[in-house]
Amino acid sequence: MAANDVILVGGGLSNALNAWRLKQQRPDVRVLVLEAGDRLGGNHTWSFHSSDVSPEALAWLRPLICRSWSEQEVRFPGHSRILATGYHSITSDRLHDVIAPALGDSVRYNARAISVAAGGVVLDNQERITGRCVFDGRGFPRDAKVALGFQKFLGLEVRTKAPHGLDRPIIMDARVEQFDGYRFVYCLPFSPTEMLIEDTYYSDKRDLDLPLLRRRVADYATANGYEILHVAREESGVLPIVLAGDNTAFWPVGQDVAASGLRAGLFHPTTSYSLPDAVRLADIVSRLPHFETATVAANLGGMARDHWDSRGFFRFLNRMFFVGALQGERRDIMERFYLLPQQLIERFYAGRLTNGDKAHIMWIMLKKPPLSILRAANASGPMAAWSFADRNRTHGQVPRA
Ligand SMILES: Cc1cc2nc3c(=O)[nH]c(=O)nc-3n(C[C@H](O)[C@H](O)[C@H](O)COP(=O)(O)OP(=O)(O)OC[C@H]3O[C@@H](n4cnc5c(N)ncnc54)[C@H](O)[C@@H]3O)c2cc1C
Repeated sequence: MAANDVILVGGGLSNALNAWRLKQQRPDVRVLVLEAGDRLGGNHTWSFHSSDVSPEALAWLRPLICRSWSEQEVRFPGHSRILATGYHSITSDRLHDVIAPALGDSVRYNARAISVAAGGVVLDNQERITGRCVFDGRGFPRDAKVALGFQKFLGLEVRTKAPHGLDRPIIMDARVEQFDGYRFVYCLPFSPTEMLIEDTYYSDKRDLDLPLLRRRVADYATANGYEILHVAREESGVLPIVLAGDNTAFWPVGQDVAASGLRAGLFHPTTSYSLPDAVRLADIVSRLPHFETATVAANLGGMARDHWDSRGFFRFLNRMFFVGALQGERRDIMERFYLLPQQLIERFYAGRLTNGDKAHIMWIMLKKPPLSILRAANASGPMAAWSFADRNRTHGQVPRA
């Protein structure tokens, strides 16, 4: 008989939430998290909008949230705007500090799985661990057959010499010189003298020149009058932006292991942000009536494929953005997007667009130059989708396991 009811392979965002929620809601369920690293959650700052999650979920997430703001701002060459949408940040450190003690000996660190199957896991020291229900949450699958663009960034968490004067996040400051696709800077003011500044690109290329981006962050700070006293932390990422693929790309029909997080394709196609989906999955997992891999994999796999299908419009927009628009046009598209009503923008990030919202977005994208209708149309058909897949066929996708 298996010693564990649930084995969660990978102690990143999604599985940490799954484990924590199970501990809270189902203390009778024997959970084991196997994490290759020595902490839960890696090195990230995960942010989300208030409207991305339900009020109930926001309540249970509270202990993980380091900082919340009641509004956010965007800045473009032609207009700036303050949106009265709340914004919240969770850091890896906070996630580890809250969840690791709650899990106690239900988590094992430096436990790298080399084989993950329905009945259990083999670690790289050949140890076999059995469980009734196995979830694979090892991050974005390198072999997913999808065509990709990238959202890539380098962030420096800095302490400034004097108060920086920013009291709300700047989600996009696109009033910066444009390189490598669409470039913007993202700022999270954690305290009057602490701020995360991220230099970000929606790019066709996955390479990240870290020294160059560090200089660009420093230049941005100088240009805005933020004198950096020291850099407390650095984070970087190359997130996959899915342009095309089908609903079996992440979770094929018949896959006998359950999946979670990016591994399950549970992320917003246009931002690659996965926190809202991970929160929803954690609630679903904590309510599962039985923990048997075959049943759970069949049920959740169907849900993941439906989820993929429901988000085709976002992948279409990604194709318009990455293929239909010329490099220099991407910033104009984003600027026009941020003229849309606030509630529509909230539904966009929450992945809950109505048909009316979709029509509104298309109208604002296509109603005038610079986005060429012809190029957009060329970028939208299935033929084009598959040629993107061909173009990306040799991608190792993202540099994360
Ligand atoms: C720097 C950065 C910032 C981001 N910011 C945001 C944000 O603000 N908001 C948002 O919603 N999303 C954000 N994302 C995107 C996405 O939400 C994160 O990548 C998120 O961590 C994905 O969660 P996950 O659980 O699927 O994978 P991960 O959190 O990457 O977890 C995978 C875990 O599996 C472990 N692992 C890998 N291989 C093995 C193995 N063989 N055996 C055992 N363990 C293994 C890894 O060590 C890791 O801990 C960000 C991503 C990055 C990289």
